[in-house]
This record gives sequence, C-alpha cells and structure tokens, in this order.
Amino acid sequence: MASKSENRLTAIHPAQQKVRQDGMQALRQIGTAILDFALPPRCPNCLDIVAAQDSFCTPCWRSIHFLGDPCCAACGLPFAYDMGEGALCGACHATPSPFDRARAVMAYGEVARTVVLRFKYGRRTGHARLIARHMARHLAGMDMAQVLLVPVPLHRWRLWSRGFNQAALIARALAREAGGEALVDGLVRTRRTPPLRRMSAARRRRLVQGAFALSPMGVERVRGRHVVLIDDIQTTGATAASCARMLRQGGAARVDFLCWARVLDAEEEQPASLAD
Ligand SMILES: [Zn+2]
Ligand SMILES: [Zn+2]
Repeated sequence: MASKSENRLTAIHPAQQKVRQDGMQALRQIGTAILDFALPPRCPNCLDIVAAQDSFCTPCWRSIHFLGDPCCAACGLPFAYDMGEGALCGACHATPSPFDRARAVMAYGEVARTVVLRFKYGRRTGHARLIARHMARHLAGMDMAQVLLVPVPLHRWRLWSRGFNQAALIARALAREAGGEALVDGLVRTRRTPPLRRMSAARRRRLVQGAFALSPMGVERVRGRHVVLIDDIQTTGATAASCARMLRQGGAARVDFLCWARVLDAEEEQPASLAD
C-alpha cells in the first residue's frame, strides 16, 4: 500500500515535468542575473574590469579597426576617402557582389579573434549578445518588420560536436536587440566543406557549390522577404555567396550580409578552426 502511494507521488505527468523544467530554467536565469550583478563586467578581450556589460576597455577599443563609411556600397570594403553615394570597389565592379549590401562590424584582428574563440570554443555563449549589440548599428534605417535574419548553417556533425551554431545564437540575439525575425533553420548545409582559405576563387566556388540548400521552412518563409544572412567571420566570402544564391533562388526580395569580422588581408594568419 505504501509503495502504491509512493508510486503515485513519484510518477510525473508530462505537464508537471514541463513545469519543473521551466522552473529550473527560470532559476538558472535568475542565477545568471545574480552573477551578472555580483561580478563586475570585464572587457571581452583582455578581461580587465570595465564600467558596463558588453563593452571593451579603452585600449582594446582603440585597437579595433571598426568598419563603416566610407566604404564600397555593395561589399563594405573600406575606402580611404568618401567616393560618393553608391560607389563600388574594383572587385564589385568586375564581379557584381552576391549581396545587395554586405557589412562587418570590424576588420579581423586580435579582438575579433579572441571574442570568437571564447564564444565558439570557450562556450561563452553570452558573447552572442555582445556581437549582436555591435551588429545592430548596421541595421539602422531598415524596416525591421520586413527583415528575416538567417544564419549561415553548420553541418550537422559540427553542430553535434559543438552543441550550438554560433551564427544562429547571434541571429537570435540580434532579433532581440534590433527587431526582425530570426529564422535559424532557414538554410541547411547538405555536406561538409574543407577550410577554404588559400584556395583559388574558382576552386572555392566549386567546393561550396551545392553545399547549402533552403530547408522546407526556408522555402516557405523566404519568398518576397528582405533577408539578412548572419555569420561570425567572413574569410573568403565563398560560403556566404553560396548561401546568397540559394536565398535568391528561393525568391528573397533582397539579400544582405552582416558579420562580426571580415578578413581584409587574405594573407592574415588564422587558426584553421575559424573556417567554420
Ligand atoms: Zn580590454
Ligand atoms: Zn565592393
């Protein structure tokens, strides 16, 4: 008899289980909030104490090469001086950019690398908010009600081993910061691609061709929308261009690209792991 009542007490209805999980999640969130409150905010690069959450200390801030105007209207390549509205760089004149507008928060360098390494491999997933806050200024002036934020997908093996797609976390954080809708599984990676740096442009194009596709959800949602493709680092641009082709084939009205850092000097040394 005792065991019967115990059974009744220990058996958990799925609805109760859900309440319990939600409760645990709420507790964890409160815990994080208390920690955020108790621990002083630190510079995401050098870890010195700073005045506000998600801000860099002055020396690190000064070392960052922020990208913005004046730049190529299409790909965002910085210009030394203002060449007038709509001016394009030589590369975009020769081959039209796959994007209506591509922008990066900063040039790839020490700070960009440190933040991304801690985010991806140190599991500092809170860095998605830091990155999104900086990205948000590049969305100013857009009708965010029309914007669909679509992350560059990871291959499922990589997703299993890391446990999260950094670009998807950034897209979600950006939707919270700036508005717009994050469609985190709009694109899928149908096969793995090797690191593309140091390969010829033609070889890179061949390797990424057919490596991405719209998911059934993407097919349904992309048509007629202003899509902003989201990634952490732009190295060669071949991956993003391949995604852009899929989004255009799916009928997107406009395709932009926004990332945390762009490698400006193709010869810059990067850890191989950054390729994904
Ligand atoms: Zn610092
Ligand atoms: Zn350009």
